Amino acid sequence: MSSNLESLARQVAESGRIEGLSDKHFIDGRFIARGNESLECYDPGTGKPFAQFAAGGKAEIEEAVEAAKVAFAKVWSKVVPAERGRILQKTAALIREKADYLTVVESLDSGKTLSEAKGDIANAARTFEYYAGAADKLQGDSFPISGDLLAYTVPEPMGVTAHIIPWNYPLAMLARGVAPALAAGCTIVAKPAEQTPMTALLMAGILQEAGLPDGVFNVVTGTGEEAGAPLAAHKDVAHITFTGSVETGGKVMQAAARNITQVTLELGGKSPAVVLADCDMENAINNVAGSIYKNAGQICSAGSRLVIERSIHDEFVDKLSRRAAQLRLGHGLRDPDVGPVNSQEQLGKVKGYLEDAKARGVETRAGGAVTADPETGLGWFVEPTIFDNLDSKDRLVQEEVFGPVLAVQVIDSLDEAIEVANDTEYGLVAGVFTKDSAKARRLAGALDAGQIFVNQWFSVGIEVPFGGNKKSGIGREKGMEGLRAYCKIKAVGERF
Ligand code: ADP
Repeated sequence: MSSNLESLARQVAESGRIEGLSDKHFIDGRFIARGNESLECYDPGTGKPFAQFAAGGKAEIEEAVEAAKVAFAKVWSKVVPAERGRILQKTAALIREKADYLTVVESLDSGKTLSEAKGDIANAARTFEYYAGAADKLQGDSFPISGDLLAYTVPEPMGVTAHIIPWNYPLAMLARGVAPALAAGCTIVAKPAEQTPMTALLMAGILQEAGLPDGVFNVVTGTGEEAGAPLAAHKDVAHITFTGSVETGGKVMQAAARNITQVTLELGGKSPAVVLADCDMENAINNVAGSIYKNAGQICSAGSRLVIERSIHDEFVDKLSRRAAQLRLGHGLRDPDVGPVNSQEQLGKVKGYLEDAKARGVETRAGGAVTADPETGLGWFVEPTIFDNLDSKDRLVQEEVFGPVLAVQVIDSLDEAIEVANDTEYGLVAGVFTKDSAKARRLAGALDAGQIFVNQWFSVGIEVPFGGNKKSGIGREKGMEGLRAYCKIKAVGERF
């Protein structure tokens, strides 16, 4: 951690304030105020407001989509791919240059620890860098038909794309959709989550500084109902990228269906870490703990279920429980092991699961309650929790809690592991811990998920496609797959 970052974080933690944030929308290259009310941004580490932002609605969405439509037709679709790539490369460099400030804003706004926020900002820079290099490598095919007939394909940009962003990874998720959309030649209207709008507005300034023409990237802040819904329902939007809950994803898909708009949905997860008796126990414990306690468990691809072989269950869960109990909770800016959950609403949801588990007499091996920052007595915190010996039908196994809460299921064979691991409505990611490559390969083949981690969790980068099966979503982001989502393929057959 650089001393610059540490001193900025300390200063902001002490004052509860940070300079340089916007309370406006960003439309057609300008930060603009509109007549509507403001909403408060809360610091989850204290539960206190630290800034305000504009509550946009249908009128601002109309204005932003119109700006994006004009910019697409007149400007961005005409900029050659290599130049688009240069602007994205400059964007990556600027994110790195401003990383300390972005890190502190992201930590304050979302509650995540400074180290995690730092990782997210580095991730966002890397995403722009990756798609900068990909912009001029979007190629079509040619097809062998007959002597005088040539058939070929051209990937063309979709047009105006909507990006509805969740609160758990505000800047990293924005980058994941915006960078490939820009690389493909699309223009953008982004609607950050109402809990965490700040870094999207900062990105508007960064993209402009990198040379992005006016109207190509627009941000409207506001609630899901007031700003998100009209964006999802807009007839001039050609593609919607949504990350969030299954319920809201369904609403977005319904709105899109009315206009036959293409969607990429990354929704919930209840991802299993399958731990076999022959695993490297220390490595498996580190990864399972990291997979569920990182970002206070508010990760779509968290390892929220431990599916473990009976012969190592007792030792493994004992050690993991001790690890969970040792984790230091605290304000994100003080960089503890685990920060707060993102909002009072989220705290209430998690608390509901914890109280229900207690009332039902579920075996609790660690945590099990909501709490506060031990230093200040403030904020929205949940103890790192482990519920043991759960049945497949238990709601703690079936439902996404989205907090630092691990559900343990015990299995006796590989076949049972596969059956148990696949027995939810979700299919985002799954992990396998074993030294036996044949078993790992078999599980990797049989687990119904979009990404499989073997003897590690999360450690695949922007190069690798990511997305869910079943109710975890539609489509794939990241990698070249993620870029193709923003293209429509035109096929031409010509004879002269
Ligand atoms: P959560 O329930 O965890 O807060 P959501 O899935 O509701 O998460 O929110 C993810 C994003 O979707 C946020 O930017 C939110 O404002 C937006 N959103 C919420 N409701 C709607 C809706 N009806 N239409 C479009 N976007 C919405």
